[in-house]
Amino acid sequence: MWNEPEPVIFELSSPGRTAFTLPEADVPLAPLPEGSVRSDLKLPEVSELQFVRHYTHLSQKNFSIDTVFYPLGSCTMKYNPKVNEKAAAIEGLSQVHPLQPEASAQGSLELMYKLQEALKEIAGFSAVSLQPAAGAHGEFAGILVMRAYHENRGDTKRTKVLIPDSAHGTNPATSAMSGFTVVQIPSDKRGNVDLEALSAACDDTVVGLMLTNPNTLGLFEENVLEVCQTVHACGGLMYGDGANLNALLGIARPGDLGFDVMHFNLHKTFTTPHGGGGPGSGPIGVNEKLAPFLPGPIVVKDAAGYHLSAPEKSIGRLKAFFGNYGMFIRAYTYIRMMGPDGLRAVSENAVLNANYLKARVSPHYALAVDRTCMHEFVVHGDIPGTDVRALDVSKRLIDYGHHPPTNYFPLIVHDALMIEPTETESKQAMDAFADSLAAVKEEALSNSELLHSAPHTTPVTRLDEVKAVRSPVLCYKG
Ligand SMILES: *Cc1c(COP(=O)(O)O)cnc(C)c1O
Repeated sequence: MWNEPEPVIFELSSPGRTAFTLPEADVPLAPLPEGSVRSDLKLPEVSELQFVRHYTHLSQKNFSIDTVFYPLGSCTMKYNPKVNEKAAAIEGLSQVHPLQPEASAQGSLELMYKLQEALKEIAGFSAVSLQPAAGAHGEFAGILVMRAYHENRGDTKRTKVLIPDSAHGTNPATSAMSGFTVVQIPSDKRGNVDLEALSAACDDTVVGLMLTNPNTLGLFEENVLEVCQTVHACGGLMYGDGANLNALLGIARPGDLGFDVMHFNLHKTFTTPHGGGGPGSGPIGVNEKLAPFLPGPIVVKDAAGYHLSAPEKSIGRLKAFFGNYGMFIRAYTYIRMMGPDGLRAVSENAVLNANYLKARVSPHYALAVDRTCMHEFVVHGDIPGTDVRALDVSKRLIDYGHHPPTNYFPLIVHDALMIEPTETESKQAMDAFADSLAAVKEEALSNSELLHSAPHTTPVTRLDEVKAVRSPVLCYKG
């Protein structure tokens, strides 16, 4: 349903208006080949000012971390410092060409090398490849590395990937795409991997286990050492989904805990833009025994300088050129600006903020698991005694000026609202959000229709989300 209709750019159109001026041609004009010219495109004819207003208004309709609180759990929507953009705009870095000779791109290679080194140190791994373009792409790279490791040992009967039921959907998708069968492992009452079920599933056909720690309930996996031991004991490998690394910086290193391979989400933990703001970046780190299989090229250093080099038994290239290089500059800037103590403070404050907000929200919404949380927590978003569901609460929060939390994930929690404030939010912002959640609950009890029809303040009110996916309306029809 549309709120008050705004003039659409097509309705402002008037013949002969243009928003551009082309310079005089300084070459002889040549006619375009017949049939190659499209005419009657029905494009709007508007002035430059009308054009600028149109796109500026459109941009203001976006929710973004620069404008509102954005507690989208598991996505770590923290503030992206503007200094990152300044660094990425430095001409020598932004104008480098991927086909440039190595000798003339030593600065860029050095930056990539030092980022590899920093990520190794932060997460406790022996080698890093910066190639993958996002977390899910890193998972794919990591599972292919695990497959290559087993095949290289002549161990070809391993076909099963174990995945806890709280996992992100990309984990089973990655495993299936890599040609493996997914075996789901249940969580126990405290939200940990059920050790009995894990032991029962472990045998010599297991490729490995994909584990998110802290998991998607926002809980540290209390038996992580035993989980790693159990999987290793049957010859499997431990894949770490590093999406939640924002809780561990400077405190615990996945490589030390027993993970063999892990992806980083630079766009979550390391403040590169996220959610419409730019491409992702999902480097993977591995321990010694998996290093020869990393996707290449990676950057190596010798007496002569920095070079691109493919690891000995590399699974090959996964991405054109060398990864999303612009994101490496931003993430490296962030890591160097924070320093080791600063990174530890990031995680300490992310955990502190989440526990503060949990304390403010839990009197009004039931916790999925009542434990000290890490950087995020999950509540049930339905309101008992009413027909209000988590989705209604989320939609109503938009009217209060907040981005909704993650809805209906993890799948094992009914009406899940997954809330992650991150370390960059102030007490005021969190208090305002908690107050809004409390107010929405009061509304649910007194006037639930207000929630069912929310949001009310947006250009488009409640959509039929299934229909929007199945039959989207993508064209303006006047
Ligand atoms: C975000 C996320 C992923 C996928 O990462 P992308 O960068 O979005 O591809 C995987 N697992 C978890 C737990 C996540 O939160």
